[in-house]
Amino acid sequence: MKQGTVYLVGAGPGDPDLITVKAVECLKQADVVIYDFLAAPKLLKYAREEAEVIYVGKKGGDHTLPQDKINDLIVEKANQGLMVVRLKGGDPFVFGRGAEEAEELAKAGIPFEIVPGVTSAVAAPAYAGIPLTHRRYNTSVAFITGHEDPNKEESTIDWPKLATGVGTLVFFMGVKNLPNIAENLIAAGRDPKTPVALVRWGTTPQQVTLTGTLETIVAEAQTAGLKPPALIIVGGVVELRETLNWFEKKPLFGKTVVVTRARAQASDLVDKLSNLGAECFECPTIKVVPPDDWSHLDAAINNLETYDWLIFTSVNGVSFFFERLYEKGLDVRALKDVRTAAIGPATAKRLGEFGLKSDIVPETYQAESVVEAFEKEPMEHKHVLLPRAKEARPILPVELVRLGAVVNETTVYQTEQASDNVEMLIKRLEEGSIDIVTFTSSSTVKNFKALLPEDRFESLIEKVTVASIGPITTDTAKELGFKVDITAEDFTIPGLCEAILQHYA
Ligand code: SAH
Repeated sequence: MKQGTVYLVGAGPGDPDLITVKAVECLKQADVVIYDFLAAPKLLKYAREEAEVIYVGKKGGDHTLPQDKINDLIVEKANQGLMVVRLKGGDPFVFGRGAEEAEELAKAGIPFEIVPGVTSAVAAPAYAGIPLTHRRYNTSVAFITGHEDPNKEESTIDWPKLATGVGTLVFFMGVKNLPNIAENLIAAGRDPKTPVALVRWGTTPQQVTLTGTLETIVAEAQTAGLKPPALIIVGGVVELRETLNWFEKKPLFGKTVVVTRARAQASDLVDKLSNLGAECFECPTIKVVPPDDWSHLDAAINNLETYDWLIFTSVNGVSFFFERLYEKGLDVRALKDVRTAAIGPATAKRLGEFGLKSDIVPETYQAESVVEAFEKEPMEHKHVLLPRAKEARPILPVELVRLGAVVNETTVYQTEQASDNVEMLIKRLEEGSIDIVTFTSSSTVKNFKALLPEDRFESLIEKVTVASIGPITTDTAKELGFKVDITAEDFTIPGLCEAILQHYA
């Protein structure tokens, strides 16, 4: 049997974008992915659907699987001829026991490769605005375990040399031992006024940074109730945070935003909000599914040349229409000289991906505005095919008929209520850790409301800021009892993000 290879892969420090290209390639090819507490679960999206994904934990002392069992598991999977990715937080060879796992592999004669990662020791301080070196401050850095048992007879850490011989000190796993660390450094000759920072969950939207000095940091950490995982950074460079702190100053840093769009459509909004510093809580309230019956669309596709216009009102409409067209063995050539129209920029962009342009560009992205654009076109007796959602508003077909067109409205997809993550949503609403809820269509509002227990609706959303993509969605939300704080002026995802930004500016 073929021998499997093991890749010991660094997952980076937390921000899922801080993974290497090579790590992504490995994940895409893996048969098995074995991952840790500190490896961002978001990275699992790179794995194939068929890949076996195993969580082996390790949160502080609480190991889901002890290290020797993890080693056995890796060896066993590789011996089955599988390509194994062992995904580890940060860099696999920096305090991650990656070296021990590699030793086991070497001993068992299993081929392995190491894919270095961005270690938290470098990334978390960087996101806190602390460079580990600076010509004005220091010429050396040390990475140190803060996990050493303080009751150990003789420390293997050479405190006097560290305290006085190294510029910047970075301690891993040291939160519990912070009092000993500070005390040992002072006792060994480091100036008690030396600046210290603690960075918890660095590079993520939950990042927390505390600063003080060797004298004060223990009390500060206690007051703040700071828990692991965090790094302790000791040295003059910590002062630079005052000027260089950038990540925590992002406009939506510290805000949690609920995204209610269907999962397949959410990434655009999630990426934009994340780039603004927000934590996105994905709670898709709808899912997009094919229609119950294709026969109506099939008949239209069979007679495509009889249409003058093909009008799309959503990205999904475009996607489902062409998917069906392809399934029937056809492609865009079947459209011949049918003119095409898209209601908004995202829909037009999707249309462009099939090589088609929108022959009209409405001023705003609402059915009303599309109607205005068509008023300038000769529509009398023109045949229009309108592939849309089952639940779409009737205004567009009604108005096109008023202009004299013959409209064939056909369902190419429908939305169903989704309820992923509801328990977590309710828990977070209860504890008040949700700042904003975004609605990108009337159906997201209706379904969101349906997810919440009726008798507690008002108290749950009382303190939440509601942001809507446009006036139609806002009206629906108001009718259903939401107080809408933000309505986008440009009815698009970028427009929604802009409106949220302005609200907090
Ligand atoms: N191999 C990892 C370190 C594993 S040891 C790396 O290169 O980053 C686990 C310790 O790393 C934690 O106790 C904590 O001290 C630190 N750590 C890991 N990720 C962190 C993060 N995002 N923010 C702060 N500290 C982190």
